[in-house]
Amino acid sequence: DIGGLERAKQQIAGLVFALKSPDLHKKWGTQPPNGVLLYGPPGTGKSLLAKALAREAEAIFFHVRVTNVVTKWYGESWEVLQEVFAQVKDSGRCILFLDEIDDLVFDRAAPEELRAASRRLINSIGEQLDDIGRSGDILAVASTNRPDAVDPTLIRPGRIDRLIEVPLPESDEKREILQIHLRRAEAIAGRPLFGDLDLDAILARTVKMSGADLAEIVQKVLEGKVQQEGAGIQPGPVTTEDMQRIIEEYRKTKEVIEKIRYGQYL
Ligand code: ADP
Repeated sequence: DIGGLERAKQQIAGLVFALKSPDLHKKWGTQPPNGVLLYGPPGTGKSLLAKALAREAEAIFFHVRVTNVVTKWYGESWEVLQEVFAQVKDSGRCILFLDEIDDLVFDRAAPEELRAASRRLINSIGEQLDDIGRSGDILAVASTNRPDAVDPTLIRPGRIDRLIEVPLPESDEKREILQIHLRRAEAIAGRPLFGDLDLDAILARTVKMSGADLAEIVQKVLEGKVQQEGAGIQPGPVTTEDMQRIIEEYRKTKEVIEKIRYGQYL
């Protein structure tokens, strides 16, 4: 159910193989990979790939949203992470997914006390990653949309030592992703929901959009139908024009959100 991303999928398949066949690595005198960094813009399928990796490798999936763990810098975050690592080491074959790993960055503008605490936390995670590497059946998978902000302590041999790029989709990939989401909605509804759509015309206005944007557009167009039916109108199947209208609205909202995010409205 992941559209496009052929290169990334191939690399993930290699990791599945490594996790499932540690003996083969031993036979050839090599170490299986310890940790991998998935990097690319938001909403491009990094979490989807990490989950697919766990599923294919029949491994337990631990999802650590780094942002949640590090909000309480003092004391607790360290304990929470120690607990997570202890559980991971006890679980047999598993994937430790460290989402938004760039949030562990050492903040130069922060007060000295805070910087020292975050440095200790990063060093301790680095050491834990070393341990994980030695175990053979645990793979750390980190994700980021700001690879330049990831602490270099974590990206080195024995820790996170493989990189997988997860870029924005090209137009044929967007077509595939859109079709996945159209089919999924129809599968849930158990009936056809879309008319004969002109996918080229629909995708023409989706420059720089991610898989998450396309999924959201499909949701929004269907929500529109729900509202119409709720208001007593009997809506027909989704048309190309319905999709184009929602894409225009979505683009405008996204532009405003991005302006707010980058402070241009302040
Ligand atoms: P990331 O981790 O890169 O921010 P996610 O993997 O969480 O992005 O993707 C968010 C949602 O966007 C997914 O749940 C899925 O619905 C949709 N999506 C993103 N990329 C793809 C893709 N390549 N194929 C199908 N759906 C996708």
